[in-house]
Amino acid sequence: MNAKKNKSSSKKPEYNILFVSSELHPLAKTGGLGDVSSSLPKALKTLKQDIRILIPAYPFAIQKAKSIKYIATINLPDSGFPGHLGLPVQSGKSVAIIETKLPGSQVKVWMVESELYNRSGTPYSDDDNNEWEDNDFRFALLNYIAVEIAMGRTTLKWQPDIVHGNDWQTGLIGALLEDEHSQSRKRPATVFTIHNMAHMGIYSRERFDALELKSHLWNHHELEFHDDFSFIKGGLVFSDRVNTVSPTYAEEIQTEEFGYGLSGLLTYRNERLSGILNGIDMKEWNPAKDPHINKNYSKKTLSDKQNNKIALQKHFNLPGKKNTLLLGLVARLVYQKGIDLLLENMEEILQLPVQIAILGSGDLELECRLRRWVTKYPEKIQIQLGYDEALSHLIEAGSDAFLMPSRFEPCGLNQLYSLRYGTIPIVRETGGLADTVTHASKENLTNQTATGIVFLESKGSTILDAINLTSLLYQNNTVWKKLMVNAMKQKFSWKESAKQYLRLYTQAIKDRDEYKKHTPVF
Ligand code: ADP
Repeated sequence: MNAKKNKSSSKKPEYNILFVSSELHPLAKTGGLGDVSSSLPKALKTLKQDIRILIPAYPFAIQKAKSIKYIATINLPDSGFPGHLGLPVQSGKSVAIIETKLPGSQVKVWMVESELYNRSGTPYSDDDNNEWEDNDFRFALLNYIAVEIAMGRTTLKWQPDIVHGNDWQTGLIGALLEDEHSQSRKRPATVFTIHNMAHMGIYSRERFDALELKSHLWNHHELEFHDDFSFIKGGLVFSDRVNTVSPTYAEEIQTEEFGYGLSGLLTYRNERLSGILNGIDMKEWNPAKDPHINKNYSKKTLSDKQNNKIALQKHFNLPGKKNTLLLGLVARLVYQKGIDLLLENMEEILQLPVQIAILGSGDLELECRLRRWVTKYPEKIQIQLGYDEALSHLIEAGSDAFLMPSRFEPCGLNQLYSLRYGTIPIVRETGGLADTVTHASKENLTNQTATGIVFLESKGSTILDAINLTSLLYQNNTVWKKLMVNAMKQKFSWKESAKQYLRLYTQAIKDRDEYKKHTPVF
């Protein structure tokens, strides 16, 4: 390893970090993982860490990259799954590594070029939103390349002290590096971050065999999961440290309700499990400088926020009513986000003095049901289907309040953007939402700690009550303004979270060094 270690304990450590992800804003993003994969490395770079991000070279990512260069070719061994893929192409069984910089920063991004990634659509699905059937192979390749880099078997002249994987798409890295360890080769320490437990990367025994994973991994203490196998389990079982993106979610996933059959494993490993809140990119999400909004504003020029409301109403063809509570929603339209719960009481919600502006895409049935309400009450609710980064900024700036009725939310970013934009979040008390929004109770309003509306139950009627309360608060100008100012005072910069990640890396290295072959007992 070629790390510049901390010479004295008072000095911050300086690590080489390989950050592996399937998404990276602005090159490839479907949700919060893309945001985190961009902002955390930037913050770590500011803390003087040598960090490289490894992602697949999706064609849309290459297209968005400012400049690219080919920096290495990694040969794949004849045995093991890469030999099986018929990969690629140029010089026998090898893949190319393309280097670019993360836009707006000096962080190096390495993209793995392979025929497996050379498709249009999203990182996970085709243009019609059908998941690629070979996602196991596609992401196993990313894991495999991460391991080659981690073990220094490339011409890159760089090796990490830490390999930081994210979500199921990187879950095999821990298992593959464990294998290196068992063959007495020193491996980097491993950290695995859960951004969402609901996506587990579950595939059949046939696929396990086709990937030529070592057969001893097929047991229920390791990769096997109810007669199939799971990528995420690899990350949870084998990583030196596991974390998730909020302290509350770290507790929740140890329960049956949120653990998706892995709560026992997570409880067993809970001394290695922690929660670190996501921050937000304070430059990109700054109402005072945001280029995507109609008029910039700050705490001191709050009345200018109104211009964005008018622009948003105009964009959505909603009547330009200054004093009607405008609710924004930007999300993947899926069960997790509680969209069906919102629909349960839509008739009653739309009888209130509110307007709703929605941006999102996802479940076709939910999209249709929302559209029916648009047809019935076009002057009250409007929706734009699809993905639109600029519009998501205008919704944050132009709405009075922001809806997040999620069933579960590992961290959630939109409530953080909302707070920064003085747009009052209406959230369910779960995961990161519980950790970041303080309810507008009488007491919290009096002591000026309130920043939003927080409700407990996952029920349509509770959401209706919460919107009702928001509407009442909105009618009291003084109270509402105080709420907005309180919200805007909250600080969720990445700097603090990045420092916590640094401590996590130090712990992971210590755990790796004190390593004993684990014997799971769960
Ligand atoms: P998740 O990762 O579960 O989707 P998060 O709240 O953590 O939820 O992050 C979602 C991110 O994706 C936010 O930055 C949000 O603004 C963005 N986003 C979601 N849907 C859209 C969309 N249709 N258009 C633009 N941005 C979107």
